Amino acid sequence: MQFDLFQLKGQVAIVTGCNTGLGQGMALALAQAGADIVGVNQSAPTETRAQVEALGRRFLDLRADMADIGCIPGLLTQALALTGRIDILVNNAGIIRRADALQFGEADWDEVLNVNLKSAFFFSQAVARHCMAQGRGGKIINVASMLSFQGGVRVPSYTASKSGVMGMTKALANEWAAHGINVNAIAPGYMATNNTAALRADESRNAAILARIPTGRWGEPSDMAGPVVFLASQASNYVNGYTLAVDGGWLAR
Ligand code: NAD
Repeated sequence: MQFDLFQLKGQVAIVTGCNTGLGQGMALALAQAGADIVGVNQSAPTETRAQVEALGRRFLDLRADMADIGCIPGLLTQALALTGRIDILVNNAGIIRRADALQFGEADWDEVLNVNLKSAFFFSQAVARHCMAQGRGGKIINVASMLSFQGGVRVPSYTASKSGVMGMTKALANEWAAHGINVNAIAPGYMATNNTAALRADESRNAAILARIPTGRWGEPSDMAGPVVFLASQASNYVNGYTLAVDGGWLAR
């Protein structure tokens, strides 16, 4: 067993939505494993940039609204102009909208599907084309959810998007595995980030969720570190189309 299987030295990883939360945790982990980071954000990723640079890695700060896939070709051109290569894509940017299904509006449907699913597909397509041209393979990591497996409550567009992410991960893995491109997903459980602030603020939901998590705690961005480095590295070369739950045991319950 070679233990440098997990190292990413000399590689370049694009991480969308890495100014905070799980994206920040994954960008830092990839940088710790040796990768330079291209961060795609709507607002300044000040803290992430400083932490990546403190590790001696480069951080390229690109701005885009992932609700509009029109930004993708320009992002790739800028990333390649400055780094010369792309090896890893983490489709992390995501949003959630909460309302009863009977009242759920079209804008809340479209926005969530556009950011969480449509942009992940077209960014993956653009990076896969580049990886095929480079001839070195690549790693695409999508961020799924417990709601890729379960229905959830009052989050119908989020559930549809994350169920779609899990299906799309398998579909793309089937087409691209022969080109050395691994497409996999991580399904975080209940993690303490902005995305779950409303749930954690609701005392009874918070208690019910905690009582159902076998580890007895909310997950943290640092809990994504090992799984993302595994899926970004040679260690996962024969893992294709899989959605890895990082959930403190939630799905096993
Ligand atoms: P978060 O709200 O802290 O982070 C979301 C990130 O996506 C932020 O960086 C945000 O700026 C970015 N983003 C949102 N809309 C964007 C847009 N239009 N363009 C560019 N960037 C945009 O929440 P998080 O929990 O860190 O979420 C990260 C991912 O993990 C999301 O895909 C989310 O659905 C998923 N997830 C989170 C949990 C959880 O419990 N927190 C569980 C399962 C899945």
